[in-house]
Amino acid sequence: MDSKQRDYYDVLGVAKDADQKAIKDAFRELAMKYHPDRNKAPDAEEKFKEIAEAYGVLSDPEKRAKYDAGGFAGVADFTAEDLFGGIDFGDIFGDMGFGFDLGGGGIFDRLFRHGRAGPRRGQDIEVILDVPLELINNGGDEVVRYTHPISCPTCSGSGLEPGTTARKCETCGGSGRKVITSDEQKEGSSVRFQQITVCPACNGQGTFIDHPCKKCHGRGQLEKHESLKVHIPAGIEEGTPLRVKGHGMPANEAGAPAGDLYVLVRSIPDSRFERVGADLWRKETIETVDAVLGTRLKVPTLKGNVDVKIPPGTQQDEVLRLRGKGLRKFDGKGYGDLNLRIQVHIPEAISAEERSLYEQLRSLGTSTKSKKRWWK
Ligand SMILES: [Zn+2]
Ligand SMILES: [Zn+2]
Repeated sequence: MDSKQRDYYDVLGVAKDADQKAIKDAFRELAMKYHPDRNKAPDAEEKFKEIAEAYGVLSDPEKRAKYDAGGFAGVADFTAEDLFGGIDFGDIFGDMGFGFDLGGGGIFDRLFRHGRAGPRRGQDIEVILDVPLELINNGGDEVVRYTHPISCPTCSGSGLEPGTTARKCETCGGSGRKVITSDEQKEGSSVRFQQITVCPACNGQGTFIDHPCKKCHGRGQLEKHESLKVHIPAGIEEGTPLRVKGHGMPANEAGAPAGDLYVLVRSIPDSRFERVGADLWRKETIETVDAVLGTRLKVPTLKGNVDVKIPPGTQQDEVLRLRGKGLRKFDGKGYGDLNLRIQVHIPEAISAEERSLYEQLRSLGTSTKSKKRWWK
């Protein structure tokens, strides 16, 4: 942070409790005075940036509250786009003809292209990490592999083949801007109006690359492959981001901190189980005769097979809950359950012997249970 930075209220010369109209009036007056296209004093541009930044914060009730509460630290993360994106400059300056447009090449873009005075941290990177249920259950380390762009070391990010230079755009003389000037009569005197937009020939770049860097094909960037070991806490909930501080994109400015890496942990689709929070669900298909008579099943869990008793008379879609056989809970308070949803298989084709047995069953009449229901 710039230690010389002046209080935003002092910059605009307004009281701490100034209302929005007073702030707007003060900004209009100062901005007209110090606009770099009107004021050619060497410090006008710096002054103008200071005024604009102060207005960007104080004109927005939310940002102003953050500044009132936390000073410059409260607003340190705002970009030029955050500060000026919501301001209607046409409303403030009317038809004054300044290049107050925010689109590429406008005065704000030009002055704040490299962010505000304070160092800006690099961007965050987000990667998805799919891990087996066992790892979620036990916790453990896993390697995350990801790529992120870096400045091409061959051309230092310029995109130019070493030893060559960029060709200056003749349309704009290399400024990347297009200035339209007109003289108009106003109240008896001639007033010069300027409008500044992006140079259409070079798209605001100011230069053309005739000999692109062979390493990065003129992009100025390369993909860097990284791998990093992260610790997965046991029971981590689906899609929870793990923040790895400082492993995001490097900052553009020297001395500014890198961004963070966010690793979103998900479970790999598992043919055995479906995860619902800390619970696991599984379908078990049993034969009709086993549903009627009951049986025992070998059921897989995350910690080996277990023997499960299926009681006689188990119905289609009945759920058998195996307490504590699910995933470890993130809060450390025990385990979820493993729920078995029972599917009863009705044979499609039967042997002559089976048919004979089924017919015997039928000739016995319905079961006691069913009789009760019918004759009740
Ligand atoms: Zn390069
Ligand atoms: Zn140009």
